[in-house]
Amino acid sequence: MTQTDVYELFAVRYATHKRKASENFIGGDPHDYPMPMDYFVWVATNNERTFVIDTGFNVARAAKRGREFLRCPVRTLSELGVDATRQVDVILTHLHYDHAGNCDLFPNARFHLQEHEIAFATGRYMKYDFTSAAYEVDDVVGVVRAVFARRVEFYSGDAEIAPGISVHLIGGHTMGLQAVRVRTRRGWVVVASDATHFFANLQQRRPFPIVLDVGKMLEGYQKLEQLADSVDHIIPGHDPLVMELYPPAEERLRGMVVRLDAAPVK
Ligand SMILES: [Zn+2]
Repeated sequence: MTQTDVYELFAVRYATHKRKASENFIGGDPHDYPMPMDYFVWVATNNERTFVIDTGFNVARAAKRGREFLRCPVRTLSELGVDATRQVDVILTHLHYDHAGNCDLFPNARFHLQEHEIAFATGRYMKYDFTSAAYEVDDVVGVVRAVFARRVEFYSGDAEIAPGISVHLIGGHTMGLQAVRVRTRRGWVVVASDATHFFANLQQRRPFPIVLDVGKMLEGYQKLEQLADSVDHIIPGHDPLVMELYPPAEERLRGMVVRLDAAPVK
């Protein structure tokens, strides 16, 4: 018997960036050790449905922004059996360049997005470098085109998209950032995306410097903890530790795809 409300859940690593700890915390870091950042998309799948969570960026964006591109995330998704050209459901946690690029590679997808996020990404705060720097106008325009093509579902707060899959408005990092809660064989796992970039942001309550509302980011940490079955069920958006803590999906995908529906190995 297959349970249609229980999903396999994977993290797909597609890029990385060498940086120092001081870049990852408001107020810097007194020790300032190397603290690289990884880039991920995620996918929840079972026999009935597949939800891609975020779409990543492409090699041109990586070059423009000085990130080390490892492999097209959409290509890796295809190796997991996800055909991006079909009518796939894509949950966009927010519209930053590293989460909502590549939408052109999902020409028939239905996108799931918070209303606050598109308002933010097309509104008054995009007049300022501080708030617009992590957006790419072409990505945002692509989503607007998808709205007119009737391919975007909007949420205003928390919502169940399907049994076993729900979205949760956090805000903080952007106006409409949403985390995704997925029922797996080990319980409820929360794909935090940029509600916490690293485990350390959450554990130490030290927010990441790209932020719209620090209060919402701090309260978002508590919300993540409430949504997940334990702290081991929270998946940060950019932490290289995710690749060490979770087992590879398959040997040939080692270093690229890990299983988040399995217990952490450390
Ligand atoms: Zn991000």
